[in-house]
Amino acid sequence: MSMTEILRKAMEAQGIALSSEQENQFEIFFEALKETGAHTNLTAILDEAGVAEKHFADSLLPISMNLIRGDEKVIDVGSGAGFPGLPLKIVCPGLDMTLLEATGKKAAFIEAAAKRLDVNIHLINGRAEEIARSENARMCYDICVSRAVARLNVLLELCAGFVRVGGRVMAYKGEKAAEEVKEAASAAKALGLKYIGTYPDTLGMTQIVVYERIEKLREVYPRKFSNIKKKVL
Ligand code: SAH
Repeated sequence: MSMTEILRKAMEAQGIALSSEQENQFEIFFEALKETGAHTNLTAILDEAGVAEKHFADSLLPISMNLIRGDEKVIDVGSGAGFPGLPLKIVCPGLDMTLLEATGKKAAFIEAAAKRLDVNIHLINGRAEEIARSENARMCYDICVSRAVARLNVLLELCAGFVRVGGRVMAYKGEKAAEEVKEAASAAKALGLKYIGTYPDTLGMTQIVVYERIEKLREVYPRKFSNIKKKVL
């Protein structure tokens, strides 16, 4: 089966019908991943089924779970080759989407891919814990998404700085999500976040863990990365 056919099936299972334009964009994205991925360390997954299911369809889960409406200001922390930020923007063009990535080569790929896909995103090549201290990013977003960046107790400190009071952090996690949620309880409290719930996909692969900001973030957070790692909240 072609990448597009596999993606179409996976999206049908999520109750989302892609337009032919969107399918075309995912095809272009797949081509770009293969081209750049052949010579640059972008992602380990480059085959048809892997990209369609583990990258594209997986990225889109918050939409089918009704966790994203489609008009929010969103930041994707540690996007790598553009996940989940670019697929979310393709399917919900009304999102005001920022992708944040620390590695220059990956950020360059995101920028080139967005151009080829003809989607308008903001790209920041930097580190979350530093960018979250700047005035035009701190507590400025409705939603912060992040996939495969760090364990939840560390990830919450990297993401917490971006969301406004009432805004949400959505972490893509695997089957051990519940364990990580428990482990991150004290971090969430210190960061002014309230645990809302965990939303599993139908295959039991990915679970989206959701927190909401209930008070302003204390000035001390986020700390330097060395301290985040050394003294986990
Ligand atoms: N979210 C993507 C990539 C996961 S790999 C996916 O699911 O496929 C983790 C990525 O996060 C790497 O590209 C790494 O450079 C980036 N990253 C790790 N720590 C970061 C930080 N503190 N700030 C910004 N990016 C970070």
